[in-house]
Amino acid sequence: MLAASVLFLLACGEQQSSDTADTGPAALTVVETMLVNMGGLASLRNIDSIVMTGNGTRNRLGQIPITGGIDPDARLSGVTETIDFVSGHAAFDNDVVVGDGFSQHRTEALTTWQGQKIGWGTTEGRPNIATTVNGLFSWATQNTPEMLLRRNPVSIAIAAEKVAPGQTARQLSFAGRPHWAIDTMLNSEQVTIMIDQDTGLLGGFRALDTETMLGDVDAEYRYSDYRPVGEVMLPFRHEIIKDGQPYSSMNYSEIRINDPSAQAVFTVPEDVRQQADQAAAEEAWAPLQWNRVSETVFHVVAFSHHSMVVEFPDFVAIIEGPYTEAQSMTLERLIEDNIGKPIRYVIPTHPHYDHTGGLRALAAAGASVLIAAGHEDEIRAIIESPHSNPPDVLALRVAAGVEVGQVELFSGMTEISNGGQSMYLYEVETIPHVNPKVLAFVEADGILFQSDLFFGGPGPDATALFNALQELELEVTQIVGGHGGILPYTSLLEANAATTNN
Ligand SMILES: [Zn+2]
Repeated sequence: MLAASVLFLLACGEQQSSDTADTGPAALTVVETMLVNMGGLASLRNIDSIVMTGNGTRNRLGQIPITGGIDPDARLSGVTETIDFVSGHAAFDNDVVVGDGFSQHRTEALTTWQGQKIGWGTTEGRPNIATTVNGLFSWATQNTPEMLLRRNPVSIAIAAEKVAPGQTARQLSFAGRPHWAIDTMLNSEQVTIMIDQDTGLLGGFRALDTETMLGDVDAEYRYSDYRPVGEVMLPFRHEIIKDGQPYSSMNYSEIRINDPSAQAVFTVPEDVRQQADQAAAEEAWAPLQWNRVSETVFHVVAFSHHSMVVEFPDFVAIIEGPYTEAQSMTLERLIEDNIGKPIRYVIPTHPHYDHTGGLRALAAAGASVLIAAGHEDEIRAIIESPHSNPPDVLALRVAAGVEVGQVELFSGMTEISNGGQSMYLYEVETIPHVNPKVLAFVEADGILFQSDLFFGGPGPDATALFNALQELELEVTQIVGGHGGILPYTSLLEANAATTNN
């Protein structure tokens, strides 16, 4: 502990010589005042758990309707964020409404099972699941509950105490107000905390966040609207800015400290305790079902976002690498167990984040990420951006010198063929859900894969899919879904007829 402080002091001393900020007050003095203003270090340390409820917004969910277009903002309501500092647990529970589109009630919790950190989650209308922590996917104020645990005002205020004794506070404008900027250590990360010069309260902090999709981004957390909660003062407004753009914001109506009822969300539901056993035993695991569709085609069904696996004589191609790292790493093992051939390609149907969250892990497994030219900007950024804090499986395998998959492009149409067997990929520009959109067709079996367009009933995307298949003159017999199950082509005919007759 002492050695670490001395090293940090030396590092800061070096920084000071090249910095003009040595006119500011001693950082330690500013921090001590801030801690007193927030109720004192002892009171902050007495916070074992916190529950924050309110409403807010979330941006950058990766649901663009056209590539290069604007990502619709989402409204978050009925938000409950729970952090248990003692156990290292955190959870989101909220409704999310994306633009004018769909709404979902979602819960995701980072908890402990059999002595191991695992996750459990659910979305209204879908089953509960248990997964390893890298299988959690949130549409809340952050992408995972882990980020909520790492990025909150209580942890940051306490971390301020670790400031090196020799450091001088730097004056700068933060959130449009004069602040003292002070570097400190948050566990093993360096963060810069901002202390409001007028109020003497924690105004926020800056850190490096690794986002699943955006990669490494400069992140800014702004805290305001301080109110007393028990013995401490806490901010009731939080704003998160990543990469210079709004990411999420919350107005809390209530914050509770050390409420035992808050622990309920961390209880793994009874119906997924067998999954929890498996998650606790593995490094990366999410529940997946391996379903045969034809001699060479398999539908791999997950919690909510599915893939299609096509076996060729010499390799395997996957359509869709959705959702999470844990899902893709589980899929990699299933392919090894059931087929035992290398994964040559993964083909995403569109760049929405829920359908691309597992692409990096499949690239880490050696798959080329074969994308439509119209998706290049969005998907290249996902695959090629650095992910360092912490590194994901792709970043780790690259660092270890493992040969990983690269981005490959096709435009309009392409054919994957091997040993007389073929699959066709089409970049379709007439689909409302997103433009362009990729459809995959295994001609020999009449199997089409589509995501987000057809769920069995009529609708604008179903009509657009029907028209696209007519235009392409594909003889489809079965439709395999990125959501739901396998539908006969006749059901699309019926849906289209229902639309036409209206
Ligand atoms: Zn989509």
